[in-house]
Amino acid sequence: MSWLGHKPRDSNNVVFKKVLRFVRGYLSGTMERIPVTEGKTTFLVPVQNEESTFPPGSARVFYNRKMEANRDGTVLFLAAVRPSEYLDAMGATGVRGLRVANETGIAVTINDIDPSAAAEIRVNAGRIDGAIEVTCQDANALMSTRRFDAVDLDPFGTPAPFVDASCRSAKRYLFITATDTAPLCGAHLKAGMRRYFARPMNTEYHGEVGLRILLGFAAREMIKYDRGIEPLFCFAHEHFVRLHLRTHPRVKYADRTLDRIGYVMQCTGCFYREEKTGFLSETAVCPCCGSVLQAIGPLWLGAVNDPDTLLAMETLLPEMALGTASYLARLLPLLREELPTSTFYDYHRIAKALRTSPPAIDIVMERLRNDGYRATRTHYEGTGIRTDAPLAAIEAAILGGSSSP
Ligand code: SAM
Repeated sequence: MSWLGHKPRDSNNVVFKKVLRFVRGYLSGTMERIPVTEGKTTFLVPVQNEESTFPPGSARVFYNRKMEANRDGTVLFLAAVRPSEYLDAMGATGVRGLRVANETGIAVTINDIDPSAAAEIRVNAGRIDGAIEVTCQDANALMSTRRFDAVDLDPFGTPAPFVDASCRSAKRYLFITATDTAPLCGAHLKAGMRRYFARPMNTEYHGEVGLRILLGFAAREMIKYDRGIEPLFCFAHEHFVRLHLRTHPRVKYADRTLDRIGYVMQCTGCFYREEKTGFLSETAVCPCCGSVLQAIGPLWLGAVNDPDTLLAMETLLPEMALGTASYLARLLPLLREELPTSTFYDYHRIAKALRTSPPAIDIVMERLRNDGYRATRTHYEGTGIRTDAPLAAIEAAILGGSSSP
């Protein structure tokens, strides 16, 4: 019993986890390992348990080949922006930090709270040339006591419990992976609201909502320290969202960041939506169909990519030996071309609501451009269109007419 008169709920769990970590650390010396190559880096990975279907439980130290595209993107990004040092705060096998050290020459610190993971990282670090420090600490404790030029969070599921400390630790760059896409995108509403204190909504652009809610959360965690963020390379792929942010000291940048936080007001009756910056006051009604507009957010309303950074990455890509180079070669120009609108329209859904068969996407975009609007594709969805055109003009472009008189 605690002095407040109730037993702390997780006390048994904490002891169990400590014992488990000790046993895992002890056993790691006898772990069977296989060599794996990603990019130009070969490292050892504990043999996975084939009977386990859930990756985090499939080996004593976690490795997921499917996240190679995520790691490739970061290695390429780091090769382009070249921070002076890099913290891989949740290393597992250490693959991410090892690749950064080996493929970019940047000094790295690789950390993991699990002693058996730290032991694996040390084994791998010994096989690679480069400045590699290995630590075994709670990431929040490490990030609360040391600062790094670039900080990378890659936890299981949500990064929410680590973002505050990472904002204090990151001098110039902060990178965040989230794999809890269901809470972020609105499929698990309450979990999303608890973690990010934002209200998602399961719209046709839910993938974008997830990315922008995470970005809005990171922005709010940063601005309380009178510092700002600038998204440089952010994207969603399969079951993860990945952010690469530049941090900016000074209140001026914090205020600029604050200006980009707000809401998407989504009509509950049609495809209409509008942006609202700042704090919510009155309830709003859709000017197209009169239904209530539901607030999604708070979330990031600004641009999520920096064209110059993306171009620098594209230029470097042929020199790097990345396993997912062909995916990145398609992704980067697409991200560079995407209009910085906060949502996109799935024109197939609009066509269905209009009871018409959708023309080819290029035709719809061409019609919008002929009417004087801007229109691009989006990486979130093959049938998605980003445009500054109003809904009536998009409907006209799908139906084959023109909205202009
Ligand atoms: N970055 C790795 C990669 O690219 O393969 C994967 C990291 S894995 C998803 C998450 C890791 O975070 C696990 O190895 C786990 O032990 C570690 N971890 C969990 N809680 C932690 C904490 N509080 N501090 C540091 N590491 C933690």
